[in-house]
Amino acid sequence: MTHDLVIAGAGPAGLMTAQKASQHGLKVLLLERHQTLTDSLMGELVTQKALSLLNVPDTSECVVNRFKSIVGESLDTGSHIAVDRTLLGNSYLLDEDSCQELMRDRAVSNGAELKCQAKVDSVIKEGEQVVGVKYNGNQESRASLTVGADGSFSKVSSSAGFAHPRWLLSYGYRFKLEGCRIEDPHTAYFYVGRDVGLGYLWLYPRSESETNLGIGRVPSSRLSWERLPPMKDVLMKYMRKHEETKNARIANVNGGVVPCTGLIPSFTGAGVALCGNAAGQVSSIVGGGVTTCLHAGTLLAKHAKRMVEENDYSRESTLLYEKEYRKSRLARSIMNTGNGMYAVSKYAMLNDPVAAAETVLSQLDASTLNDVIQGRLKAGTILSLMTDFLPLVVRIGAGYVKSVAITGV
Ligand SMILES: Cc1cc2nc3c(=O)[nH]c(=O)nc-3n(C[C@H](O)[C@H](O)[C@H](O)COP(=O)(O)OP(=O)(O)OC[C@H]3O[C@@H](n4cnc5c(N)ncnc54)[C@H](O)[C@@H]3O)c2cc1C
Repeated sequence: MTHDLVIAGAGPAGLMTAQKASQHGLKVLLLERHQTLTDSLMGELVTQKALSLLNVPDTSECVVNRFKSIVGESLDTGSHIAVDRTLLGNSYLLDEDSCQELMRDRAVSNGAELKCQAKVDSVIKEGEQVVGVKYNGNQESRASLTVGADGSFSKVSSSAGFAHPRWLLSYGYRFKLEGCRIEDPHTAYFYVGRDVGLGYLWLYPRSESETNLGIGRVPSSRLSWERLPPMKDVLMKYMRKHEETKNARIANVNGGVVPCTGLIPSFTGAGVALCGNAAGQVSSIVGGGVTTCLHAGTLLAKHAKRMVEENDYSRESTLLYEKEYRKSRLARSIMNTGNGMYAVSKYAMLNDPVAAAETVLSQLDASTLNDVIQGRLKAGTILSLMTDFLPLVVRIGAGYVKSVAITGV
C-alpha cells in the first residue's frame, strides 16, 4: 500500500484525523473535493473541550469571541430563558478558517499529503476488505485504512455499505454580517418561532460590529416543510426587523447539512472507519458536531497507529475505535439527544413543535434546560420533567406512537 491512511474529506473530522495520524508518524493522504478547505463551513459555537482537542488557548486567533451567557427566546412571544457561564461552562466562537488552516498546516508539516479538487466516488473492495478509494472518475488511491470523513452524504459510507435506518438531516444556512450595532457581544441567542419550524435561528456576535446569523431546520414532514418560508427569507426578516442588524451588510453566505438522530448503528468495517457527520457524530439538539468530530478524529488516529503497529485492519481491529468512541461521555450525549430529536421529529409530523418549544421556554428553569441540551438527564431531572411537563410529555409520546404507527419507522 502507498499510504497507511487515505481520508476522504478535509472538514474538521478529516483534518483532525490527518493531523493526529501524521503526528503519530503514519503516512496520510487527505482528499478534498473543494478547491480550498475554507470553502466548507466548519461550525462555530464550541465549548472548552473543543479548544483542548484543538490544543489552542482561548487567546488564539482561532477564537473570535467568548460568551458569558446564552439566551433562548421565542420570536413570536418574546418568552425567554438565559443559561449563563456557571451552568454552561465557557462557550467560544471559532474563527473557522483559522482553525481549518491550523489543522491543515500541522498535518502537512507532519508529512501528510493533501489533494484538493479530489472528489471521492467510492471505496475499492477486495472481498469484504476496503483497500482504498476511487476518485475523480478514473483515479485510485490504496491504503491500509480508509477513513470516511466526507460529511452527511458520505460516498465512503454508502459505497462501503453502512446503513443508517434512522437518518434525519438538519439543514443549516448562515450569514456573516458586518456593520452591525451589537449591544452586548458576549451574549449568544437561540430563537424558536413559527417561521423557523422544527429547529432554531441563532445570533452569535463576533464583535460589536460583526455577527453570525444562522438558521437550522429539520424537515418533520414534506407538508409542514412546504408551508414554511424559505430559510433565507427568515434570516432576512430577522435582520431587517432588529435594530442591531438592520443596517448590516451580508459579507458571506454558507450552509450545510448535519445528521441529528445520533450515531449510526455501525461505523467501522474491515479496512474502513467513518468519522464526524458521516458517522452521525453530532450532538443533536443544538446540532453541535465540531467537538464530537475532533474527539473522534483524535481517537481514530490513535487506533490507526495501533492498527499499523499490529498490521491488523480487520473488522475486529477497527471496531476497537468504535467501541471506545461509544463509551465516551460525548457519545452518550449524542445518543441521548439523538433519541430525543428522533422522538420530537416524529411528534412534529402530526403536532405543533413550536407550541411545545414555547411551553419549554416559558416554564423550564435554566439548569434543567442545560441538562436537556447537553443530553445529561439525571434521575432528578427526568422526575421533574415528568411532573412539571406531564401533559407535554404525554403529547410527545402519543404523537410519536401515532406517527410510528403511520410510517412504520
Ligand atoms: C449552518 C451550520 C452551522 C453549524 N454550527 C455549528 C456550531 O456552532 N457548533 C458545532 O459544534 N457544530 C456546528 N455545525 C455542525 C458542524 O459544522 C459539523 O458537524 C462538522 O462540520 C462536521 O465535520 P465533518 O468533517 O464530519 O463534516 P463536514 O464539515 O461536512 O466536512 C466534510 C468534508 O468532506 C468534503 N467532501 C464531501 N464529499 C466528498 C467527496 N466525495 N470527496 C472528497 N471530499 C468530500 C467536504 O467538501 C468537506 O470539506 C454547524 C453546521 C451547519 C450546517
